[in-house]
Amino acid sequence: MIPLASPIKPVAAWAGTDQIRGRTLRSVTMILLAGGCRWGRCRMCGYHHVRDSAVDEAARLKSLQSQLAWVSDNLPLDKADLIKVYTSGSVLDHCEVPTAFLEDLCRIAAGKTLLFETRPEFVEEEVIGRCIDSLKGEQEDPVLYVAIGLETTSDAVRDYSIRKGFSWADFRDAASRAHRAGAGVKAYLLHKPLFLTERQALDDMHRSIQEVLPYADLISLNPATVQKGTEMERFWRQGAYRPAYLWSVLSVLLGAQVNVTCDPVGGGHARGPHNCGTCDRDILPAIRDFSLTGDRALLDALVKRGCACQREWEFILDEERPFRMPLTR
Ligand code: SF4
Ligand SMILES: [Zn+2]
Repeated sequence: MIPLASPIKPVAAWAGTDQIRGRTLRSVTMILLAGGCRWGRCRMCGYHHVRDSAVDEAARLKSLQSQLAWVSDNLPLDKADLIKVYTSGSVLDHCEVPTAFLEDLCRIAAGKTLLFETRPEFVEEEVIGRCIDSLKGEQEDPVLYVAIGLETTSDAVRDYSIRKGFSWADFRDAASRAHRAGAGVKAYLLHKPLFLTERQALDDMHRSIQEVLPYADLISLNPATVQKGTEMERFWRQGAYRPAYLWSVLSVLLGAQVNVTCDPVGGGHARGPHNCGTCDRDILPAIRDFSLTGDRALLDALVKRGCACQREWEFILDEERPFRMPLTR
């Protein structure tokens, strides 16, 4: 049982709706404070300093259980079809999240669909299989989605622009382990990391979606946002980085053969994906709506309607030139 004494508020938690394979699901999403990412070196990530102060595994478990109790007290967990769990790192890293807490999560999500995020090196077939056994109910398969921030299928971009610390092959191997255990796989792609032109970033996403399709059941496009205290922020402050145009985001979503979901965090602001500031106001809700319905008509209409800034975007696509970064020292 999850102890309900003194619940602690998680980093964030909310109820909403999500679309999974054409089905609209009532969801509860929680971002829990855990041990923090052991990698912690990605150039755009502002989360690696977010970690609890637990001195040992027992204290960490207690803190996580208290956060889950808060979610249970304050959000309609019982009515949710889908429970999504994130930490500032990997749910499957037992140093960040004690294994006993994984059992708590599966217990609370039994009969529902559970999704959690992890780096690929922590995906173990046996652990995933155990989770699935305790989740199984009447719901349609898969009952568990393992979400991985692949970011791009290009090893060069992942290494130099992101410094993610794992390879495309690592992702494919982890996806195979998850699939063999009976789970679904969700891939997060990062649109426009550092050091890419608008055109390179656009091409990187078009290609990544094509290439990841055989390995991922769900794909989410995350346009990069400039988070505080990151290397990306330093380049942005120097005028050496601009987040993607929303026109590029629309082009990626409309060019994909499958429904790719997208929640442009920070959209319309200088630190997030943005256009001129005016057309953003129509495009952002349309992208969020598209993620829920998969209906491309509204996105198509917005592209056809256009805006004066569309010509600026086309010019940037044609004329922007990459940094000349040496590959050796
Ligand atoms: S993006 Fe993920 S893997 Fe990279 S430092 Fe942040 S939490 Fe860790
Ligand atoms: Zn505009």
